[in-house]
This record gives sequence, C-alpha cells and structure tokens, in this order.
Amino acid sequence: VPPRADMHKILADLPRMQARLTSNENPFGPSDKAKKALLEAVNEGNRYARERIMSLRSAIAKEEGVSEEHVMLGAGSSDILLAAALNYASKGGAILSADPTYASLVRSAVDVGAGWEKVPLTKDYAHDLDAMEKKVNDDISLVYIVNPNNPTATITPSDKLRSFCEVVSRRKPIFIDEAYIDYVDDPKGQSMVDCVRKGQNVIIARTFSKVHGFAGLRVGYAIAQPEVIKELSKYTNGAFNVSATSASAALASLQDKEFTKYCVQKNKEAKDYTYSVLKKEGYAYLPSHTNFIMFPLKMNGKKFSEEMLKRGVGLRNWEFYDQQWCRVSLGTMEDMKLFADAFKQIS
Ligand code: PLP
Repeated sequence: VPPRADMHKILADLPRMQARLTSNENPFGPSDKAKKALLEAVNEGNRYARERIMSLRSAIAKEEGVSEEHVMLGAGSSDILLAAALNYASKGGAILSADPTYASLVRSAVDVGAGWEKVPLTKDYAHDLDAMEKKVNDDISLVYIVNPNNPTATITPSDKLRSFCEVVSRRKPIFIDEAYIDYVDDPKGQSMVDCVRKGQNVIIARTFSKVHGFAGLRVGYAIAQPEVIKELSKYTNGAFNVSATSASAALASLQDKEFTKYCVQKNKEAKDYTYSVLKKEGYAYLPSHTNFIMFPLKMNGKKFSEEMLKRGVGLRNWEFYDQQWCRVSLGTMEDMKLFADAFKQIS
C-alpha cells in the first residue's frame, strides 16, 4: 500500500508554491453564500451544534432521495473512509480495490491488520470489474471503488458498475467513493446512489471538499443502508463531528447550485486549456472526469516535480505500470498559465 503523504514535506514546500496544484482543491470556494452562513453561525459557536448537524443531514437526505437514517456525516469524507476501514477490518479478511486508486481507506484498514487484494485497471484505466468480481471470495470484507478514480481521473462506465453492484453486493458490501462525481457529465445518472435506494449493500461516500471548495472546512457524508450507517457510526461521533460553522456553511452551499455550476464550468475551461498545453508539447494525457489531469512523463517524476516547484508550481508525481506520471490539479486560469510556462521550460 502506498505510504501516507509526507505532511512535513508538504508543509515545507507550500511557501514555494505560487500555483498550488497538489491536492485537487477548488480554487474558487467556498461560495459567498457559504461564507455568510459560516460567519452567522460563529455567533452560536458556544452551543453544541446538534440542530445544525441534523438540518444538514436532513437536507442531504432530501437531495439524495433517501431517508435521514441512510445518511452519516463526517468531518470530510476521510472520516467516512476511516470508519469503513475500521469497521470492515474488524471483521477480518481483506479490502479489494483497484491499483492505483485513492489509498486512504486501504491504508487505514491495513494499518489495523486487514489484507489488501489489488486488481490493475483496464487498458482504458477504468476499474476492471470482471477481474474484481472473480476476486470476491469469503476472505474479502469490503470492495472499494473510486469513481471517478484518483489518481487517474478516469471513469468506470456507470451501466457496468450498476450491474456489478447489483450482483456483487449480494455477497459483499461495496464502498463507492464519489469524491469527484460532481465533475462528470450527468452526476445524478453516473452516481450509484440509486443502488442504495434499491436496498443494495452499497455505501456511497461524498465530500464537500471538491466542488463546494470546503477542503479546509471538513464536511463529507456517507449514504448506505440504515443498519450499515449504524455500524459505521460506531467509529465516529455523529452528533458532534461537524462544527456549527461548517455545518451551516455546507447547508448554504448545498442550496447554491449557481456556484457549483460555475466551479464545474471554470474547471472545464482550465482542463481544456491544460489539454492544449500538453498536446502542444507533445504529451498524451488520460481523459479527465475530475478536477485534475494525469499524464505520462518523459523524465524522472521526482526530478520533474522538483523542477516545477523551483518555478513556483506544486504538483504530484506517481509511478505505476512501469511509467512515471504527473498529476496536476486544475486551478484558476492564472495557475494553469504558470503551469504552462514552467512546463514549456522543462518538458
Ligand atoms: N476520496 C478521494 C477519492 C479523494 O481524492 C479525497 C481527497 O482528495 C478524499 C476521498 C478525501 O477528501 P476529504 O476528506 O477532504 O473529503
């Protein structure tokens, strides 16, 4: 399992970054309406935030077409991923996931004794659902799928994933991490929330960190069967895990459709521009369904990241399938122009 991110290195590098393109953050958030709600809530910062948390939970349930008992809040979706890791690791066996994928849940489960069964992505960098289905046996405690996937930005076709959920969830719980779902075409159609509505043992994780611009405010949620929510709730303090300020801001942001639409549009513009820069320099890239782009490098990844950082651009490098890769988050157009200038110098 890949190691956890090196917090000290990230902190040491931050002051050198004019363009911060390391962590798939939203450069436009939070929205003005969210900020206003947040400031108002500060006045009640002396009170435990039960009502605000319950209002947010209720609004999310309504938005997703499920009951409140199907929803669990978290301080970011990392909270949900950790609760699932601890819950399913405690049952013994292994987590089944793609490789590469977002490592946090697997890492936490392995840290407390679970195994890890990994399956490479297909040639289109989608989850290889046939191969994953074949690996599902008594020893698997949870199937973890990230769609769209991080770090590749690629999508697994929703019709195939829906059939997979229908069949495989009868045998094992399936956790679908939809952190980037708001950036795909037709998010509602591509989300697997309907599998939960149909009563399947599927757990969906969502975050406000991306399209709502809340990475530092920390709000995320799970949607799953009520009995699964009860199990996961053992590993988080549901009454208090979101602050009054963040809960109020999230509620305002949930209703601010104009803002999220704007962010998706700006992200698309930054993506198209970055594609054109890569193409012009003779680079390929994986088609992105998220707010970042993954592309194969022609030099050592660590060296590349260091050279970009010297020019004020922070990004991340990866190595998988015998290839060095760069993952660049999509920032403002100004950020991407800095990226382009630096990239032209060293590519
Ligand atoms: N899941 C995926 C796929 C992610 O990429 C991230 C963060 O980048 C997270 C979950 C965790 O985000 P947060 O805890 O901020 O909701």
